[in-house]
Amino acid sequence: MSPTKWEITFEGITYRCIKCGFCCSCKNWRIYLSYFDYIKLREDYSQYIEDTKGPHFHKRLKVDKRGCLLLTENNLCRIQIEKGYTYKPTMCKLFPFSFRVKWNGDLLLIIRHYCRGIRIGRCSRAMIKHAIECCEELYMDQLERIRLMGMESSTRCKLDDKEYITWEEREELGRYIFSSPNLEELCRRYIEVGDLNISREITYIRRNIENNIRYPSRSIGYLNRFTSIEREIIRYLGELNRRELFRKLPLKDELYKLINIGIEVSSYRDILQGEGVIDLKILSLY
Ligand code: SF4
Ligand code: SF4
Repeated sequence: MSPTKWEITFEGITYRCIKCGFCCSCKNWRIYLSYFDYIKLREDYSQYIEDTKGPHFHKRLKVDKRGCLLLTENNLCRIQIEKGYTYKPTMCKLFPFSFRVKWNGDLLLIIRHYCRGIRIGRCSRAMIKHAIECCEELYMDQLERIRLMGMESSTRCKLDDKEYITWEEREELGRYIFSSPNLEELCRRYIEVGDLNISREITYIRRNIENNIRYPSRSIGYLNRFTSIEREIIRYLGELNRRELFRKLPLKDELYKLINIGIEVSSYRDILQGEGVIDLKILSLY
């Protein structure tokens, strides 16, 4: 049984690994080794491992311009070929999943939207269970410390420059706003909760979505596509609302930032590709 509470942030998103090797490119991330990864790999793969001064891990895999040095010419993992899947570093087995800490210490299981297997296959319960196990294995002796570090020390947070609310209230408000079924309702809830008029931003988002749909307007296909894209955008903003990076801002500032991310993501024909680009940007801020 899991010792911590996990919240899944990507309900409805599908995924299957298409073995493209993009995650091995280590573009904006690195593969860190848990203690047990290192014990397993140090004998046969020591030339691929280097020291790190990071706060959580002491070892990581070396990279060059192409990415991980263990990636073969035909995009396969040398460790997997030679030793089998179970031998691979836990962080590799975890990809494209990762986690963030919520203000109350609960953990958010997130999916990295820049993975190229998203929207293919499906996210089964077994897959999610495996991802949680990998997270817990990776951070086995550190999870509690990471949780405590991630938790807010204060019981109150800022609504805006003047007003304070509790973290529970902030959680509740975020949940309420981003459970909006469509953009009109999102606009109304922004005004209700944050006194923020985002009708101009909603117009931009609507225009972007309309430009990206190829079906004739007013057809059933058009309406269905519009609805699914606007829901996808609201879902993604709700996911970001729960990530701790945005919690450092007063709620109203966060809401303003999020709706502008909504405009950016809506400019992509493939919304999930847009989420991937934004996720990469966010990753570089951590
Ligand atoms: S980026 Fe995604 S689809 Fe591609 S190899 Fe990695 S996990 Fe698989
Ligand atoms: S160890 Fe294998 S799976 Fe992990 S990044 Fe390197 S090549 Fe990819």
